[in-house]
Amino acid sequence: MSPQTEPQSTDSHNSGRYRRVLIVGGVAGGASCAARLRRLDETVEILMIDRGPYVSFANCGLPYYVGNVISDERRLLVASREMFHERFNIEVQTDTEVTGIDRKAHSIAMRDVRTGNTRTERYDVLVLSPGAAPIRPPLPGVDLPGVFAVRTIPDSRRIRSWIADHNAKTAVVVGGGFIGLEMVENLIHRKLSVTVLEKLPQVMPPLDPEMAVPLMEHLATKGVQLHLGDGLARIEERDGGGLVVVAESGARLPADLVILAIGVRPEAALAKDAGLQIGPRGGIVVDAEMRTSDPNIWAVGDVVEVQDVLTGQETVLPLAGPANRQGRVAAESIAGRATHFRGVQATAVVGVLGLTVASTGASEKGLRRAGVTSFQKVYLHPGHHAGYYPGAHPIHFKLVFSVPDGRILGAQAVGFEGVEKRIDVIATAIQFNGTVHDLAEAELCYAPQFGAAKDPVNLAGMLAQNVLNGDMPVADWLELDRTDALLLDVREPDEFARGHIPKTINLPLSQLRSRYAELPKDRDIWVYCAVGQRAYFATRFLAQHGYRSRNLSGGYTTYKALKAAGVVP
Ligand code: FAD
Repeated sequence: MSPQTEPQSTDSHNSGRYRRVLIVGGVAGGASCAARLRRLDETVEILMIDRGPYVSFANCGLPYYVGNVISDERRLLVASREMFHERFNIEVQTDTEVTGIDRKAHSIAMRDVRTGNTRTERYDVLVLSPGAAPIRPPLPGVDLPGVFAVRTIPDSRRIRSWIADHNAKTAVVVGGGFIGLEMVENLIHRKLSVTVLEKLPQVMPPLDPEMAVPLMEHLATKGVQLHLGDGLARIEERDGGGLVVVAESGARLPADLVILAIGVRPEAALAKDAGLQIGPRGGIVVDAEMRTSDPNIWAVGDVVEVQDVLTGQETVLPLAGPANRQGRVAAESIAGRATHFRGVQATAVVGVLGLTVASTGASEKGLRRAGVTSFQKVYLHPGHHAGYYPGAHPIHFKLVFSVPDGRILGAQAVGFEGVEKRIDVIATAIQFNGTVHDLAEAELCYAPQFGAAKDPVNLAGMLAQNVLNGDMPVADWLELDRTDALLLDVREPDEFARGHIPKTINLPLSQLRSRYAELPKDRDIWVYCAVGQRAYFATRFLAQHGYRSRNLSGGYTTYKALKAAGVVP
């Protein structure tokens, strides 16, 4: 949605007479905007205001400060107030909250959070980058001492002190998303025993459920207790000290500290009170230049709604990359340059105790929610580098693409190494409206210790091509309990004996050429192996001998994940 921009006032930036730019929020979006604007315009006066004690700090580093991976707090300060002044001639006002916007008078009201003193400042141009606030549900006990959200350096400092002062041994992290999981990792580094309470039956909500399974298994091997499919009801004080997190089911989870990480919501109250247009997701509505419904006010970062380039729907995406790029776009727009923000596709990565989880674009469940049905998916589990070179680890990979044009819609990957580089390649392909054919053809780095001559990205594209051109028709895992197709496992008997899909017959690929006549020609045959490759060979062989064969993409490895996620019975 584009804001309904009100008529331009006579002193708008287009007249070239703007002198004074005020920026509310001095971290990712705000600081980017300020620095870029200065590079474009040496004459304008820039004042950046933040209610916290710092500007331009590394929010993304906060969990690692709690975990002592970053032990020196000063390392979190990317740029200081002095640096902004000296290097960029940008004035910074910290510990100052902006409490109101008077759009008619072109002024903002501010309050010094230490003294309570108030004053107003006039602007020609206002930029809002106040971010998003952690959600604190209105439940009993969420404000008890020992219950924390992580947003600022002082938040992390308080958590560190709490752990030390209370000799904390146990923690409950409420919410299994990005920030929750980063906190899990860092609390484990601090030798705490950690339980995750998550309302959904999976961690990492952006992932399709089966793709979260390797992550959940990994967390379990690291001793993290997962209490899934259960929401937070209240937090109580425990007799003798400490806390108890009480779940909706009545389960009681004791903890010496509790981290609330159930999501964030745009800090749009200032904009709303000023009558700026707010979208259905609670964020400020902006146009492609990041301008709000007021032509003198721009907004960037976690506080805005942006378009998802894949679904076309408005969304909020609280990530640092978009915030930084939007800050730059806003600066260019303010300076009168032709510019636009292209929208988002939710490219993200998280590292959890050695495992990497990354995704870009739409998930299968997101597409279904949006009513999109014309897509297909492939699963693959290739090594992160050539198998003959020591130390290859599998990457669990899912690629979702549009049918019949093959446009890439999204990808998710989980593994120990090389995960984010594959997702970054696919993210870039999506940005150029790439297709699975482009992935199949992509020319990527290869030496044995880094990749494979057919990189996992190429393989994903090739598999998808095979689906599109009919070389490898795939069966839908979701139909597994409804189909009357013959299920054919082409792994070796010892593999079959270690576990297989119920009601399956075993005819190993190594015997298929001599025994295929045993198979019925009047029935669909759904073929699987361990990860999909042998089943692909079998599917091709059978198809060329007149059989109606389909591949169960990703094989038994994918089946186990789907089953663990409850997607197949
Ligand atoms: P912020 O960077 O949050 O800055 C907003 C600032 O505005 C704050 O300092 C706030 O105090 C100030 N403010 C708000 N209201 C007012 C007011 N009325 N007056 C004055 N000042 C005000 N993203 C990633 O992409 N990767 C990561 O690994 C990652 N890790 C994260 C880890 C944590 C713990 C957190 C909290 C966030 C993480 N993020 C990550 C998200 C990323 O930090 C945000 O998307 C990004 O900082 C948003 O930038 P912003 O400018 O919109 O808001």
